[in-house]
Amino acid sequence: MTANGFDNSLWNERAAAAAPRMRIRTDPDAVTAASERPRELPRQVVFDARDVSVTYGAKVAIADVTLQIQRNIVTALIGPSGCGKSTFLRSLNRMNDSIPGFRLGGRILYHGHDLYDRSANRVEVRRRIGMVFQKPNPFPKSIYDNVAWAPRNLGMKSGLDERVERALRGAALWDEVKDRLKASALGLSGGQQQRLCIARAIALEPDVLLLDEPASALDPIATAAIEELMHTLKRRYTIVIVTHNMQQAARVADRTAFFSLDERGRERVGTLIEEDATKTIFSRPLDSRTRDYVSGRFG
Ligand code: ADP
Repeated sequence: MTANGFDNSLWNERAAAAAPRMRIRTDPDAVTAASERPRELPRQVVFDARDVSVTYGAKVAIADVTLQIQRNIVTALIGPSGCGKSTFLRSLNRMNDSIPGFRLGGRILYHGHDLYDRSANRVEVRRRIGMVFQKPNPFPKSIYDNVAWAPRNLGMKSGLDERVERALRGAALWDEVKDRLKASALGLSGGQQQRLCIARAIALEPDVLLLDEPASALDPIATAAIEELMHTLKRRYTIVIVTHNMQQAARVADRTAFFSLDERGRERVGTLIEEDATKTIFSRPLDSRTRDYVSGRFG
């Protein structure tokens, strides 16, 4: 174990490299000078993406994405449809690997280790970096078995009842389901199903939760419950969320990364425009494209 509680069993060799400085693209129409913006104390870096590009066959989805994700905060990825938010998010736990033609350029360091190094253990990567999708996708099994499924598969069989309870409590679902753990998960409401999916992810005691538009299929009350939950979960986990809902980003995220589409020759390629404290992105962005997007002028 290292001082940050992260052990190196994920990789056979250390890929230590000094963290680079954040690169923020400059814009001639800059609306706020960088020197005028408030400074925050840096936190521990969980993901350090450097010049990341993703292609699907001939299609370049994102290019030149350099972004650091910090520990125990919520980082939101926002931007117009098709700008590569999901692609980038899924690259953080190698979820794109199985897509035919997928290729990643650049590097993503996770606690200093190259996530795409040949020696990285993909099962461990998925265990430590959990993911919840847009549409709740419970298994057609009992509530208990949904949460117990992955721990059982990974041989974490001792103390399973406690693990299931802990995960359901962590996802703020325990009180609603404790008397019907053997009932089918498919009988839960959409919002409960999504919290069950969060419980399923945290049952593996991950380090990071990646949430891909987790509330976009939910009603406002269920959405509020998920947003509320994120404020609690970030004490334990590092959270990255893709959302098309700017109010949601403003409500839940400590930091926000704005992606957009850049014209490159005949292609439109997703790229990171800027990343900063959420308040700053919404009130004093550096780039005019960010300002136009957050003020609802496009997207
Ligand atoms: P966003 O999440 O911002 O809407 P995506 O990451 O879903 O954007 O998509 C970025 C670009 O990559 C889009 O042009 C999309 O069509 C393309 N893309 C996404 N997934 C695939 C795939 N599996 N195969 C080919 N192209 C894809």
